[in-house]
Amino acid sequence: MENFVPLGKTDIFVNPIGLGANGVGGHNIHPNLDEKEGKELVRVAIDNGINFIDTAYYYGLGRSEELIGEVMKEMGNRSDVIIATKIGPKIIDGQRIIDNSPTFLKEEVDKCLKRLQTDYIDLMYIHFPDEHTPKDEAIGALKELKDEGKIRAIGVSNFTYEELLEANKDGYVDVYQGHYNLIRREAETEFFPYTLKHSIAYIPYFPLASGLLTGKYAKDTEIPEARKKSPFFQKETYNAIVEKVDRLRKMAEAKEVEVANLVLAWYLTQEAITAIIPGAKRQDQVSNNLKTANVTLSEEEKRQIDQIFK
Ligand code: NAP
Repeated sequence: MENFVPLGKTDIFVNPIGLGANGVGGHNIHPNLDEKEGKELVRVAIDNGINFIDTAYYYGLGRSEELIGEVMKEMGNRSDVIIATKIGPKIIDGQRIIDNSPTFLKEEVDKCLKRLQTDYIDLMYIHFPDEHTPKDEAIGALKELKDEGKIRAIGVSNFTYEELLEANKDGYVDVYQGHYNLIRREAETEFFPYTLKHSIAYIPYFPLASGLLTGKYAKDTEIPEARKKSPFFQKETYNAIVEKVDRLRKMAEAKEVEVANLVLAWYLTQEAITAIIPGAKRQDQVSNNLKTANVTLSEEEKRQIDQIFK
């Protein structure tokens, strides 16, 4: 526990290596998910010291939350786990509808508490911004829920920089979750300085670029069906990333660590990044990603990784 870190200005402490749980019941994101294996992933993560689990209503339209709720109930360890989840979007006639209205947010939090079989949520994000609701008004609704004790911390995800500023007008935002990884570095320009200045924890999603940054793909690898539509796996992008990862592989071999651990360790050297939430499909991926805790990067190694992907 001595390596646990606070989420921004809150008194919530997490292992900086968490678990992204869209592979747990996220049937609409990943085909052929086995729910039993999904629950096992969460169990193994918690048993091995991960206390920060990232889910969302959208992952299986509530199913991921339900499965995580079941695991916590079975393990009887609700208070040891920091659950982060996200509200919306709702799906109506196959369309994604985003609604940040205070009424919708409050109703969804109540439904989410039921799915997770709990009476509080540690970190509640708005998953996506809508077009209509003033952002500070939406956050005001979450602040009321925080005051009532239904949620402990307030997060936003996928907000533009301007939307984050509006959302945080009253200083209530605790965590920002955005798309950031070695090949997608835009957050460094505006988000990182802002979140650092305002003590907002930055949690990057897609830290492994959906597995591409683990070093398990080569130019001639047959791309799994499930990844074929991912922007990371389109031919030119894919080849360019694989070339860079090959250079990382040499560094990893010299250090006798896995490429994934090198990549994940690099994020944790960034002052703005509080914790990482790599996703997983198998238990060994969870335990492999946890080994990141044993990897220390020298200033020179940090610089080299930075340069490969700049
Ligand atoms: P990711 O972390 O970049 O990649 C995870 C995938 O990489 C796993 O599903 C697994 O897929 C593979 N993998 C993981 N560890 C591995 C290892 N050690 N060796 C080999 N392969 C490994 O992508 P992600 O899971 O989509 O994103 C992370 C989390 O961020 C999600 O779980 C979710 O909680 C969150 N997220 C949030 C948003 C948002 O809008 N806020 C968007 C996306 C994700 P395979 O086995 O299929 O290769």
